[in-house]
Amino acid sequence: MTSLNTPLAQEMAALIASEGPLSLDRFMALALGHPRHGYYMTRDPFGAGGDFITAPEISQIFGELLGLALAITWQNMGAPEGVVVAELGPGRGTLMSDALRAAKAIPAFAETLEPHFVETSPVLMRAQAARLAADGRDAQWHATIDSLPEDRPLLIVANEFFDALPVRQFQRAGNHWHERLVGLDPAGGLSIGLAQEPAGNIPFGAAEGAIFETSPLSLDIMRRLGERLVQQGGAMIAIDYGHAKSGFGDTLQAVKAHRFVPVLTDPGEVDITAHVDFAMLAIAAQRGGAVAHPLLTQATLLDRLGIHHRAEILKRKAENPAEIDRAVARLAGTDEAAMGQLFKALAITAPGMTPPPGFEQPDPRLS
Ligand code: SAH
Repeated sequence: MTSLNTPLAQEMAALIASEGPLSLDRFMALALGHPRHGYYMTRDPFGAGGDFITAPEISQIFGELLGLALAITWQNMGAPEGVVVAELGPGRGTLMSDALRAAKAIPAFAETLEPHFVETSPVLMRAQAARLAADGRDAQWHATIDSLPEDRPLLIVANEFFDALPVRQFQRAGNHWHERLVGLDPAGGLSIGLAQEPAGNIPFGAAEGAIFETSPLSLDIMRRLGERLVQQGGAMIAIDYGHAKSGFGDTLQAVKAHRFVPVLTDPGEVDITAHVDFAMLAIAAQRGGAVAHPLLTQATLLDRLGIHHRAEILKRKAENPAEIDRAVARLAGTDEAAMGQLFKALAITAPGMTPPPGFEQPDPRLS
């Protein structure tokens, strides 16, 4: 049993008592985004003293390489006057800051671009504003992708954004799928059970007990971004922890202070994510009319964008060159457990465009 340790757990229990069990996507949306108690709404979770660390926080090279990749994409588009560089879920603003610094290598791009952020957390918005102000730059913020400008091409980046978007799960029980819901156990704690009403017949080979997971919000955002890229021109690079092929399984996970913890314990106090299903994301973008280029591992993308060359240059001036080697090994390592292998990069473009740099060839590591 799970006791109701946090104010949000108590609020959820009251909600379940009055309205019935919560779908997992509702649970996850509340756990991360509840206006008062949501995990991202109340804290900056990154770094050694926080709960987890992300690629842009590991090394400045990550954002620099993505900034250069966007600059080259812009050149390949014919260097249009006016372009929106939009980041989804920008955390501390580190990636954008590093990308904008690197983009100065192509001054016409640096001058014409306008940075935009899609962010829901007031704490992180303040961190992003401070970060860009330190660089002498301003930005514009949006609560959703809907208010991004419609009159110019879009260059979009998203790192560890889609894994924070809510998922629903369905489990095979007999001849039907039943949605997995968060209800109350006899002792009053939060627990996962199956909806009594079936959600649909089993259309394809799933074993008894198999779990089908889907993120309707992610797919909706991706389809609408695909439509935007068709209408406005532009490209998107999305990087996340996830799998290249769709499959069955429960990938919901919670992390606190760099350790896994149970998903239902302490909602609002732990980070909750799910692996990204890149095959479904690519299909969603294609439904919007955009082109999805072959998926890459993060290691392959960073190799092709020149991470090792950039690291050598930084090491010449570095006080602690071994630290740079460690960061590169983390980001672009190809061991089974390294970020370079677990994280994947998806590029989406308007039809007829040259793919962003790095995405011209499929990834032999994913064949
Ligand atoms: N990209 C950053 C942060 C990743 S954490 C990095 O790599 O360090 C996830 C980010 O997505 C946070 O900034 C969080 O506040 C934001 N986020 C979570 N749910 C969101 C939503 N529904 N809409 C917009 N931003 C969201």
